[in-house]
Amino acid sequence: MKLPIYLDYQATTPVDARVLEAMLPYFSEQFGNAASRSHAFGWKAEESVEHAREQIAAAIGASSKEIIFTSGSTEAINLALKGVAEMYASKGKHLVTSLAEHKAVLDTCKHLEKLGCEVTYLKPDKTARIAPEQVRAAIRPDTVLVALMWANNEVGTLNPIREIGAVCRELGTLFFTDATQAVGKVPVDVEADHVDLLCLSAHKIYGPKGVGALYVRRKNPRVRLAAQMDGGGHERGMRSGTLNVPGIVGLGKACELARTELVAESARCRELRDHLQQRIERELGFVELNGHPSERLPGNLNLSFHFVEGESLIMGISDVAVSSGSACTSASLEPSHVLRAMDVGEDLAHSSIRFGIGRFTTREEVDYAADALVKAVRRLREMSPLYELAQEGVDLKNIQWQGGH
Ligand SMILES: *Cc1c(COP(=O)(O)O)cnc(C)c1O
Repeated sequence: MKLPIYLDYQATTPVDARVLEAMLPYFSEQFGNAASRSHAFGWKAEESVEHAREQIAAAIGASSKEIIFTSGSTEAINLALKGVAEMYASKGKHLVTSLAEHKAVLDTCKHLEKLGCEVTYLKPDKTARIAPEQVRAAIRPDTVLVALMWANNEVGTLNPIREIGAVCRELGTLFFTDATQAVGKVPVDVEADHVDLLCLSAHKIYGPKGVGALYVRRKNPRVRLAAQMDGGGHERGMRSGTLNVPGIVGLGKACELARTELVAESARCRELRDHLQQRIERELGFVELNGHPSERLPGNLNLSFHFVEGESLIMGISDVAVSSGSACTSASLEPSHVLRAMDVGEDLAHSSIRFGIGRFTTREEVDYAADALVKAVRRLREMSPLYELAQEGVDLKNIQWQGGH
């Protein structure tokens, strides 16, 4: 077993050897520009791009004409939200999203607010889920888009996408879902799930960084978008710029593997995740699960540990690569906005750890991580007077602290 151990598959994933192999010729011999119409170099590149488009469409139940290539999910989200808001401005200027979305959605919404849009931020429940009835209550005649993620990248919670999609369809509002974490982990079918726009990203599904796609529905209803990038009119005018052919070939192969291996891989990840969770919960007390107990990504485990602090814990398990819910994305000391939206208390938010299990995780690695974590938590708790009191059965909520709070 090689150290350090990678358990951060929701942050990014290594490129699968089969994906890399598919990509390699497109850096050298097959270097053509897919927009070159006058020679074989261009034709070959275009043919490979069209094949990738079909592989991606097949993974989400779409048709290949509905796939627009982007530099990743962040760009696809910007294109979907800004493109719809601009195109449908005469219908209205209202959008619906949630407080638990990825920053790419939240910050794009903030930008749209500055341009005069109004955004309703739904509050998720304690497990980070949005209920279809919340969506129904928020939609107004001037709502142009509902944007809700399929699977949360921090706590792994799955939204009831099919039911939310049905509400949007019934009320005649377009529905965008950020499926970056869902593709390859749970079945995705834009027809059955009533999805009008969807984004995905190669580097979360064992493909390369810097390439992704936006699905844009072509009929029932036909979705129109205002381009956010001007230029040569590539991608049916929706996204100009020379296509990243090696990246797109990699994304195509990654989607094919995601589709064909979904069932077996999800079962394997779930089994390892459950094993990790059971070991930690059996060997340590005062552990809280963040997210939904069953409606969650198979490879995600997000736990908070009473009486320890997240950064110290992460440092205490330095040869296990995981993420913390505290101060991870910025220099600020703000805990994760997702945990805050779920009303996880400040202390527990700061002590949260996200374990991400994926295609190359082994049982040996999971056991090593469990050993390291249990040891680190015990050591940190030995230094905590509060833990001592709690073990003696003192209810800490009823203690009168000196000095104010
Ligand atoms: C990683 C991620 C993104 C951003 O994707 P990029 O391709 O890295 O821009 C957006 N949404 C979710 C849910 C993610 O996990």
